[in-house]
Amino acid sequence: MSIDASPGFKFEINKSAENSFARTGTLTTPNGVVETPAFIPVGTKATVKSVLPEAMRELGAQALLANAYHLYLQPGPEILDEAGGLSKFMNWNGPTFTDSGGFQVLSLGVGFKKVLAMDSKTFRADDVIADNKQRLAHVDDEGVTFKSHLNGSMHRFTPEVSMQIQHQIGADVMFAFDECTTLHNTRGYQERAMDRTYAWAIRCLDEHKRLTIERADKPYQALFGVIQGAQYEDLRRKAAKDLGSLESSGISFDGFGIGGALDKDSLGTIVQWVNSELPEEKPKHLLGIGAPEDLFVGVESGIDTFDCVLASRIARSSAVYTMTGRYNLTNATYKRDFNPIDSECDCYTCTNYTRAYLNHLFHGKEMIAATLATIHNERFVVRLVDQMREALKTGHFFDLKDEFMGRFKHKSGQHHD
Ligand SMILES: [Zn+2]
Repeated sequence: MSIDASPGFKFEINKSAENSFARTGTLTTPNGVVETPAFIPVGTKATVKSVLPEAMRELGAQALLANAYHLYLQPGPEILDEAGGLSKFMNWNGPTFTDSGGFQVLSLGVGFKKVLAMDSKTFRADDVIADNKQRLAHVDDEGVTFKSHLNGSMHRFTPEVSMQIQHQIGADVMFAFDECTTLHNTRGYQERAMDRTYAWAIRCLDEHKRLTIERADKPYQALFGVIQGAQYEDLRRKAAKDLGSLESSGISFDGFGIGGALDKDSLGTIVQWVNSELPEEKPKHLLGIGAPEDLFVGVESGIDTFDCVLASRIARSSAVYTMTGRYNLTNATYKRDFNPIDSECDCYTCTNYTRAYLNHLFHGKEMIAATLATIHNERFVVRLVDQMREALKTGHFFDLKDEFMGRFKHKSGQHHD
């Protein structure tokens, strides 16, 4: 069971699809409700880059996800605590999530940069284990020691520290501190990392219980366990079974995140292994996945919420989504194109502006170019998952998927920040 009467947090499944894991649900948090499945835009440092919270609300975002590692380094979690928590601090009147910082801290160590390639066949080993580069993080059984990417100062995250930081930040949903591996770690390393993640999960639950009691005057914060195990079926199933049934200090996880190395080709298979083992009634979040075609695979495999920086990151470099694929607004063909970015889109940008204007703004390096393109891309992915939710309610999810996959021509990867 969760912490007694976990005030303000609950998840209800409203409708399950036949012959698949897909379902719709309602996730209730102290700061509001998320109708699932839902895409959760990322505001890494307590802001979705270039877009006001009001505009995020208007484009349909139900919740935002910020990053514990970045907010720990700047401005410091105690500032968010004093402000009354993440949602108040950033003037976002709605639910918030924080990831544990594990991915960011560990990616300093293996040097796999910000982008996890989804296609392992074209993934150069050098991108993963940069032996000739200085390692910025070191993992041991107790935690991770790392060097700040901002000023080189040394820091240490343990499961307890991650819980303390996330409690101070005050998001409605937090994630347990885990060891994120890559597809290129050896099988032996994956096993050791999984054992470590399990031991850390117990410590996260214990510290979470302690902090929840100590901070009983604050709104309840839910804690999700994170399932690792890379591409190995037995490891993924074991991690899901172990964490799914884990109880410590009399509490269990409120939901689960599926993280780590996920090859694009096997994404659905891996999520289905995990969801076959996890308790059905708890919410499932897919960490760092948000390419449009992957969202369909995730929903079909039983994912309730997603987060990803991809939509906003590519928007800032002038790439935009449409129902037929992704294109670049700086292309010369759009110089005199007075159509909206996507004629099927209902966003603020498409309602009011043209490709020609966006083409001009990007070429002129105007700040509003990023704002307008981000509004469009975030609306695109938020709306796409909204459409999946509506299609699930009427039993037409697979019709929507077939129609989308037939039209959308672009494959892209997994992106963290
Ligand atoms: Zn649009």
